[in-house]
Amino acid sequence: TWGNIRNELLKSVGKNNYSNWIEPLEFFELEDGVATFLVPTQFMGNWVSRNFGEQILRELSNAGESVSRVAFSVPQRPLATKPKAVTKPALPEVNDSRDLPGAPLDARFTFDSFVVGKPNELAHAAARRVAEGGPVTFNPLFLYGGVGLGKTHLMHSIAWELQRREKGLRIVYLSAEQFMYRFVQALRDKDMIAFKQLFRSVDVLMIDDVQFIAGKDATQEEFFHTFNALVDQGKQIIVSSDRAPTEITGIEDRIVSRLQSGLVVDLHPTNYELRLGILQQKVEKYSEQFPNLEIADGVLEFLAHRISTNVRVLEGAMMRLFAFGSLVGREVTLELAQDCLSDILRHSDRKITVEEIQRKVSDHYNIRLSDLIGPKRVRTFARPRQVAMYLAKTMTSRSLPEIGRRFGGRDHTTIMHGVRKIEELKQQDSQIADDLELLRRSLEA
Ligand code: ADP
Ligand code: MG
Repeated sequence: TWGNIRNELLKSVGKNNYSNWIEPLEFFELEDGVATFLVPTQFMGNWVSRNFGEQILRELSNAGESVSRVAFSVPQRPLATKPKAVTKPALPEVNDSRDLPGAPLDARFTFDSFVVGKPNELAHAAARRVAEGGPVTFNPLFLYGGVGLGKTHLMHSIAWELQRREKGLRIVYLSAEQFMYRFVQALRDKDMIAFKQLFRSVDVLMIDDVQFIAGKDATQEEFFHTFNALVDQGKQIIVSSDRAPTEITGIEDRIVSRLQSGLVVDLHPTNYELRLGILQQKVEKYSEQFPNLEIADGVLEFLAHRISTNVRVLEGAMMRLFAFGSLVGREVTLELAQDCLSDILRHSDRKITVEEIQRKVSDHYNIRLSDLIGPKRVRTFARPRQVAMYLAKTMTSRSLPEIGRRFGGRDHTTIMHGVRKIEELKQQDSQIADDLELLRRSLEA
């Protein structure tokens, strides 16, 4: 009977798959060697057929039924009614009018307003390519880079462009956090099937800041299934993160490898030319907002030169400066900029380098620089080395592989291990915590 067969399937497909896919099936009839099951949605039917069809068929045969094929149908009425009451299985039906679960798109984030420079040209080109639509080429597109370098801006640009090219395309953009929130809500409301169907019915799925799901196992699991289902259907997925897939800790290996399976591109920290380009573009916009505003020569160059690599901070500084200038009716000069932005400028006065950190750390622990960087594993060198790795990771914008290169060509996993070790130790070991504090202050001085 179906009951026994279900038990066998539970063993062979695992508990998760079972409760997601097998349990909701209802046996309908066996006629002419075709076993028909009722499923809540067409999507689910296709999925079960593709992924578990053969296993179900095998179990049925093992149980002595003469079956040559399994079929899945969506009943016209809700499954709550007895299956026998169903007259004819209905045709596939996907409810397109249902609200998509995505977050709204920012109208300012378009390709038009995105300034391209060396640090972001690859990411931009990849985004453009994906935004052209057509056959899926890079799947997933994985964009990563530090805070405020334009990841969200690029994702929204892709969405706008795709939407412009093809009306009715089902595009869902949301942050990983929102994805988790939706997922938890569906669990709570016992609405997983609707959740699954909704996410698996989109044409383009964009998940922003995916690093958020690190350490959140159930959400990862669901994301993984959604991901696979969409890729199987040839649907485009775009993901962003603040770091490379391999650098996201607390995320399953199979997900990491999935995330890497398409195209991975990073947005590098901005350089002077890009920052100036962005400022020049924004100045035009702001001059409408603040008419009569006079900007002295050299102010934009000064800002581009002195303000960090983060475009959001740069924009905020410019905004504040212009607002201030227009408020007091003064020309925006270098002096005004220095006055008005002293807090921001102080912070980004100077960039700390890995080499500097290494020098300070070896001085602090009274060991030779060559021993700090070298291969010796004795504790007297290894611990300071890890401290230096930790500071390099937290005080510079270098990636783990880049730091690894500056530590005698070490692998990024070694660096990651060192960083984690110190993160752990500084909670327990007050000596380490003090060392870190001291070193940090002396580096920032
Ligand atoms: P991220 O998602 O990487 O943290 P955002 O996409 O939110 O960064 O960008 C932060 C701000 O900087 C946004 O206002 C965005 O419009 C702006 N920005 C970033 N890069 C560029 C760029 N290349 N051209 C124009 N604006 C940019
Ligand atoms: Mg963002």
